[in-house]
Amino acid sequence: MSPLAPAAAPIALEAARFRAYGPRHIDEIAQRYGMSGDMRDTVRLISEVLPFRVNEYVLDQLVDWAAIPEDPIFRMVFPQRGMLPEDDIGRLAKLVDDPSAKRELRAEVRRIRAGLNPHPSGQKQLNVPTVEGTEIPGLQHKYRETVLYFPGQGQTCHSYCTYCFRWAQFVGDADLRFASPTPDPLIGYLGEHPEVSDVLVTGGDPMVMTTERLRRHLEPLLEIETVRTIRIGTKSVAYWPHRFVSDPDADDTLRLFEQIVASGRNIAVMAHFSHPRELGTDVARRALARIRGTGALVYCQAPLVAHVNDDARTWSELWRAELAAGAVPYYLFVERDTGPYEYFKVPLAKASAIYRSAYRTLPGLARTVRGPVMSATPGKVVVDGVTETAQGRFFELRLLQARDPQLIGRPFRAHYSTTAAWLDDLRLAPDTPADIVAAVRGPQP
Ligand code: SF4
Repeated sequence: MSPLAPAAAPIALEAARFRAYGPRHIDEIAQRYGMSGDMRDTVRLISEVLPFRVNEYVLDQLVDWAAIPEDPIFRMVFPQRGMLPEDDIGRLAKLVDDPSAKRELRAEVRRIRAGLNPHPSGQKQLNVPTVEGTEIPGLQHKYRETVLYFPGQGQTCHSYCTYCFRWAQFVGDADLRFASPTPDPLIGYLGEHPEVSDVLVTGGDPMVMTTERLRRHLEPLLEIETVRTIRIGTKSVAYWPHRFVSDPDADDTLRLFEQIVASGRNIAVMAHFSHPRELGTDVARRALARIRGTGALVYCQAPLVAHVNDDARTWSELWRAELAAGAVPYYLFVERDTGPYEYFKVPLAKASAIYRSAYRTLPGLARTVRGPVMSATPGKVVVDGVTETAQGRFFELRLLQARDPQLIGRPFRAHYSTTAAWLDDLRLAPDTPADIVAAVRGPQP
């Protein structure tokens, strides 16, 4: 046992077995938890287009079945009416009911998906690196010091979020997927790019991989001296905390984290928590304690989405719970313009007000959080607030991160709007510097 990880000692906990439920199990779920026939049919219909996956823990411990359909976790996991336009739902319903229309149904599903902006913010056109004109599979390189890596076996999750901006990864369409079967292309690329200090391993959720597989993807990174931080983007602590507590290879995972720390690098678990309930179970808190016991850092982030967490009290509770668990509140994101965006979007004015109200309630140590942040084509743009001037009301904006490092930290302004929900909806102030205008309005995919 490594001296680094007192919290990583095996603990007595009844082992829970992971079982995923998908569209095929909707009847079973409806019967078990008392979902009405109408709700069941809706979930079935919408999940023809949007990915649906849930597991025993989410169903038993996180969803409040007495509060459905308004329950925020139910909304987060179960496809709902309102997530697709009514016209599309009508057409789908007709085709689903006609056994002779299977081919038309597939075509209709493809058409609806294509209209949902499957790769927002130029991910496919602008972020995928190339070598001699050929795209490197499973990599994105948007910011100088950070490469995103999508290991092929980590392109699913323990449960799916209905608001996921990577939903296209899960619908089985090879054209919509980023994934690399082995780390070799990544390692080759990093050898040529010593400016990259951070590798963000993402998906899907890399923690769906067994530790053995995860090790095969992570260990080669330890040979690259210029890589100093390995980040793992994951919602596993929320959706399947047993991954770090009682799964057969939970302890091996913690050993792997310790090994990375012992190599002199940071390992940062970028934990996705959307609602304080996700931190309310013993097993989730144990998972965080065990992860932290390895020397890993835990940073927390999630989007602000309507129907799930669009009020200040929820965020205040969430950030306090994260701090209490020894994790760092990090980003409140603005929902991206993809998938069922109309259902989940929150105007920037409202998002900014929610952020500020929640932020004011926090102790200083939780004020590490930044938001609302748009991860947009030119970079990460934060709405710092709203100001009144003789010329009118403006959003105060700032590039927290940018494709062009010269723009990082630069403030700028846009005309206030009660409806704008994304950077593209904003009208920049007349005094905006030309380089910021160029970055915000282009390059366009
Ligand atoms: S856990 Fe992350 S990648 Fe998986 S569905 Fe949710 S938001 Fe998407």
